Amino acid sequence: MKPDIIAKGASSYVVGKVERFDQKNEMFKRPSWDPSQSDVGKRFYATKDYAELLERNKPGYTFQDIAFTDAAWLLEREFAKGIKGGKQGLFAWETNEFSQDKRPPGVKLAVNDPAKMTRDIKKVATFFGASLVGVCELDRRWLYSHYYDVHDPRNPKHEPLELPEEYKYAIVIASEMDYEASKSSPAHLGAAATGLGYSKMAFTAGLLGQYIRCLGYKALPCGNDTACSVPLAIDAGLGELSRMGFLITPEFGPRVRLSKVLTDLPLVPDKPIEFGVWDFCLKCERCADYCPPRAIMWGEPTEDIPNISNREGLLRWPVNGEKCLKFWATNGTSCSNCIMVCPFNKPPGWLHSAVRWGIKHTRWMDPLFIKFDDLLGYGKQSNGEHFWEQ
Ligand code: SF4
Ligand code: SF4
Repeated sequence: MKPDIIAKGASSYVVGKVERFDQKNEMFKRPSWDPSQSDVGKRFYATKDYAELLERNKPGYTFQDIAFTDAAWLLEREFAKGIKGGKQGLFAWETNEFSQDKRPPGVKLAVNDPAKMTRDIKKVATFFGASLVGVCELDRRWLYSHYYDVHDPRNPKHEPLELPEEYKYAIVIASEMDYEASKSSPAHLGAAATGLGYSKMAFTAGLLGQYIRCLGYKALPCGNDTACSVPLAIDAGLGELSRMGFLITPEFGPRVRLSKVLTDLPLVPDKPIEFGVWDFCLKCERCADYCPPRAIMWGEPTEDIPNISNREGLLRWPVNGEKCLKFWATNGTSCSNCIMVCPFNKPPGWLHSAVRWGIKHTRWMDPLFIKFDDLLGYGKQSNGEHFWEQ
């Protein structure tokens, strides 16, 4: 059954009972409590052995590549720590002693025209670095049922998440990842694009949240915490769900990181979009072919799930996060192979805009587009030297 995204947004993938997801079951959190994942976690979260990385002695793993990647993560790791659970630093939910808010207590901007406010919010988000921004009404099925906070890894906090109804909207932000750096995935250099993506998430969502608070409204900037970002992004009209489990946007394909700001500011939601991703993924399977640990499935979408890190009740291609994280742990850094090889992942240009138009309007040509993409050599890993030589 093909999802009717235009009419139903992310709800169109729902085919059974969907429970709110407990963040404790998210793949990066499981090593802290699930014995079956503790060895993988120890390896993945251990301080990386610099000598071991350098021993690989090849482009993508040089001293310079590693320094570059570590620097790209700085804002997330030092000033946001969203990966550990959010609500702190740039992702703080309240104005604190470090924030600028000159407004006298209780003063609030009157919003008489929510459509204009929505345009203004998008302008501000773009000014603060968003590559794409959309708005949706907050569908509470996509909120996590519980927080799982590992800021103190020896004492994780697991608490029910209850969000007052006044948080009616989600402003969803896509931050583009660098095309050339991500081409060297799964080498260490490829992780620079991921790290910078995470730093941009914290920067843009954090500043936008503070702007809304300075207007006198409530704002909760979030990275991967609090709610599943992909369904919110679908509802906010930023893209469609793909075989690799990520959002695919018309502009950047899957090469984006998502963040969001939940708010009571009066806004006008965007409408979901559909541009042929479901049909294309049915024929393509390239991400499955190039996933080193075979974490992405081939074939038809299914309701079956590989493990507790996937949610039940949805018809889609569930990705096996256990296999993915195990590969990351062995690899010594993150991987973006699936993003890199996806035919929707292209740098901007008229040719690629024309291909995207073709995918949307001439579905019968999908196999030809896939063949051409192969012939033109897209999706091939670059060796890292390529990045520095441009
Ligand atoms: S990130 Fe790498 S390991 Fe994980 S699903 Fe994508 S290709 Fe596979
Ligand atoms: S690589 Fe192909 S199958 Fe995978 S998400 Fe991209 S278009 Fe879909």
